[in-house]
Amino acid sequence: MARIALVTGASRGIGRACALALAADGFEVWANYRSRQDEADSLQREIEAKGGACKLLQFDVADYEAATKALAPLEETPAEVLVNNAGITRDKLFVSMKREDWTSVLDTNLGGFYNVTRPVLQGMSRARRGRIVTIASVSGQQGNEGQANYAATKAGLIAATKSLAREYGKRGILANVVSPGFIETDMVSALPKDELAKQIPLRRFGRPEEVAAVVSFLASPGASYVSGAVINVNGALYT
Ligand code: NDP
Repeated sequence: MARIALVTGASRGIGRACALALAADGFEVWANYRSRQDEADSLQREIEAKGGACKLLQFDVADYEAATKALAPLEETPAEVLVNNAGITRDKLFVSMKREDWTSVLDTNLGGFYNVTRPVLQGMSRARRGRIVTIASVSGQQGNEGQANYAATKAGLIAATKSLAREYGKRGILANVVSPGFIETDMVSALPKDELAKQIPLRRFGRPEEVAAVVSFLASPGASYVSGAVINVNGALYT
């Protein structure tokens, strides 16, 4: 039977790297994305060209009905791995932060976690096994100017994931957080990279593959006693 790994926000960046790594690990990847059909198609082609299997699932993680409908098959045929990766930023100083900047980030980052994790957990719970990996951020650990909305969601994701680790451990489900620092993706393409790199002890941004390698480990047999952990992948930006 296929071992399914669902990755949200898999069309680009960190999610894409996670999808490729998990496909290489032998999982059938269920790759969710929101809008970039071309990027999703190219991910599917890349996985299939390497002999893997990839199913594309287009839906907005913030949309409860759409997520529930798309993920209903996983209640019967459980996923073994869930990577909660989809996320957005709407950076503004708090004084300029419109209600929509606040709610859209909460609805996607935190609401998306609820909308996706709940149906997936139904199947995992029945199977009495599963790995949940949630992508947080250094912003959720130390806060960040201009990111009150985003940081709040990432801190919330850490607490929610730790709660699931406690709630579902007895059912054989392990839940962990991977917390990246600056990673070279579209999300940070407008940032002054050279300036920011000076604040990072490793003196560079990370690569999506460097986050995916940790996600792959957390999904692997070797991580069988790791649950409720927050693993930083940040070049010692925050310790
Ligand atoms: P990108 O902006 O490069 O990619 C975002 C991905 O998420 C895309 O695949 C996008 O789909 C998808 N996505 C966005 N919104 C939704 C939605 N509502 N429903 C479904 N899919 C959605 O982001 P990164 O790869 O940089 O970030 C991935 C995760 O890592 C995020 O949670 C982010 O907060 C976190 N992170 C990133 C850091 C960084 O420095 N890059 C640092 C710390 C954390 P589509 O292509 O269709 O738009």
